[in-house]
Formats: sequence, C-alpha cells, structure tokens
Amino acid sequence: MAKKDFYEILGVNRNANDAELKKAYRQMALKYHPDKNPDNKEAEEKFKEAAEAYEVLSDSEKRSRYDQFGHDGVKNGGGGYGGGMSMDDIFSHFGDIFGGAFGGSFGGFSGGGGQRQRRVNKGSNLRVKVRLTLEEIHTGVEKKLKVNKYVPCNTCKGSGAEGGSAYSTCSTCRGTGHVTRVTNTFLGQMQTSSTCPTCSGEGQIIQHKCVHCAGNGIVKGEEIIPVNIPAGVSEGIQLSVNGKGNAAARGGIPGDLIIQIEEAPHDHLQRDGSNLMYDLYLSFPDAALGTSVDIPTLDGKARIKIEPGTQAGRLLRLKGKGLPSLNSYNKGDMLITINVWTPKNLSRQEKEILEKLQTSDNFIPSPGAKDKSFFDRMREYFQ
Ligand SMILES: [Zn+2]
Ligand SMILES: [Zn+2]
Repeated sequence: MAKKDFYEILGVNRNANDAELKKAYRQMALKYHPDKNPDNKEAEEKFKEAAEAYEVLSDSEKRSRYDQFGHDGVKNGGGGYGGGMSMDDIFSHFGDIFGGAFGGSFGGFSGGGGQRQRRVNKGSNLRVKVRLTLEEIHTGVEKKLKVNKYVPCNTCKGSGAEGGSAYSTCSTCRGTGHVTRVTNTFLGQMQTSSTCPTCSGEGQIIQHKCVHCAGNGIVKGEEIIPVNIPAGVSEGIQLSVNGKGNAAARGGIPGDLIIQIEEAPHDHLQRDGSNLMYDLYLSFPDAALGTSVDIPTLDGKARIKIEPGTQAGRLLRLKGKGLPSLNSYNKGDMLITINVWTPKNLSRQEKEILEKLQTSDNFIPSPGAKDKSFFDRMREYFQ
C-alpha cells in the first residue's frame, strides 16, 4: 500500500503555514484521540498517521526534504520517525498539544509509557552446589548451608544512610527517579525521559553515607541457611530458595538462593533413575549349591536367597528397594546382577578337586533349551 501524502492526511494545502498545520493536526488528534475512540484500531491508525505527518511537516528541514523527495526524503533519516511512531512516542513528544485539550484524561492514557516507576534495587541470585549421598537422597535431608553473600549492613540497618535517617528526596529528579529533558521544537517542547544520573533512579539520595558500607546498605558476610532437600532429587536438579540470595542495596528485594544438586558416588550401589543397581559376586560353590547373602540397601541390609544352579548374568529384583521419585509416590527397585567369581590362584589340592570335576557331565556348559539366554531374561524382567 502506497503511503499517503502527509498534506492530504492533515487536510491542508502544500503552502500551509505553521499555524495552519498545528491547527489541522490538533483537530485530527482530537478527533482520533484514543480516549475518544477506545479499542478503535482505525482511529488509532489515523491518530498515528496524523502525528507522523505533523512530525515531518512541522519541521522546516524535514518538510523541505519531503517536498523535494517525498517519503523517501524523510525515511529513517534526520531523526524522523518514518512511520514507526508508537503511541508512547506520540504522547511523550507531542504531549503538550494534548495536555491542554484533554487535561487529566491524557495523563491516564500515557501512564504506561510516560510515568516510569522508581527503580527498586534487586539483589543478585546466588548459586551453590550441594553434594548428597544416595542415603540422603533416599530419605531427603535438611542441610544447613553456610553461604558467603551480601547481607544488610548492620550499622545502618541496610539503609546506607548514617544513623538510618539522613535521606532526602533527589533534587535532580524531585524523587521521580527519572529526568525529562525538554528541548524546544516546532511544537514548543519535545521531551525525552531517562534514568536520573544523580540517584541512579532511586529517587532519594543519602546525605550522610554510612561509612561501614559506603552507602550501599550491604556488606560481605555469611549466613547459615537451613534448606530442606526433598527425597528423590538427582544430579543437576536445581532448587530455588526465595529471597535467600544476595541482599539488595538500600533495602531492595533480595535475590534467590539456587541450589544445584550433585550426587556423591556410592561404594556399592549405582543409580539408574529411581532404580539402584548392585553387582553381586558369588563363589562358584555358592552359585552351584545355593546360599543366602546380604545385599547392602539404602536402609540397612536385605537378605536374598540364591537358588542352587544360579547362572552368572542373572538379574534379581528387590521391589521397592530403590529410590523414591521426586514427583510421585512410586519407588524404584534394586536390581541385582549375579556374577560368579572364578578363582585366579589355586592350591594343589584345589586343582586336584577341580580336575576331577572337569570331565564330569554336569560341569559341561549346556546353555540350551532349559537355560534362557540373558536377553530372554531381560525381556522377561521388563514385561
Ligand atoms: Zn551501612
Ligand atoms: Zn534523582
């Protein structure tokens, strides 16, 4: 869609003087003002169009470029808005023209863009790593974490001001936290708003800074923070403790403490999700004759029975002897892999016994029909 002619938009002829332009724009602006046309997209477009046209035509330099080169002459150059003006831009730049006409209602509309909030200091988040044993993960644990962090200054009670009282409203911004620079333009005035350099946007300045914290209200210190870590957490999980990070300067909002979980390796058990894995080594006679063995679990020992003729590679399961799940009531299992220990050194006597057994029929491997393969057993297990 071709851009409309700026003179046409304002309904003036090409020789219109400043007063005529201003009058025409004012009429357009009043007609299509968003306060009068709530939720009317078309009116908003017209309102923006008029502002853009007036922004160019009321500036003699831009106007002459526009007269010579049309829209190309004022696009993205010489500070022109080139059609990209937002409602906030319009109000902050041409506020005066509406100010008189709309009074209070104008302020209400521009509130989102024109009236900035005072800055509130926010403390930074702190990250700590916490190393847990599988036993701790199994039950959940309360840890008292000693954390080096910024804490409120004791001397000034975090205010940064000596004696806690010597605050005064910033004279540069009169307490608003931002400064509005007004420059004279075609309309009389043009405003730009930025964070107050004197008070860094806080709106207040300290007359006598606390010497202990140099007026920051915070000092380096440490805090013992008790943290309840739920059962079932795992390596890499992050827990966040609200408001326990670094204190904020001069009584702002403290950051959060973020705890990153690490798992310490266990002497006997390995974790796989909520299951625990254990490698059991049986002597050859125990595997052949059957026996009972104690398996280390996270809450004591569990005794399991080994059937006579148990093969290496067999997988046994202790239901519910794994870890709790963080998000449900389910508990994992303990999975026990059977290994059969082959002796490496043999006495002469042992050798003689084994040599007698060597040719015995029962000692010849026969992993046939009766004995399922490892994969069959795995398949069975997971069904
Ligand atoms: Zn202090
Ligand atoms: Zn200020």
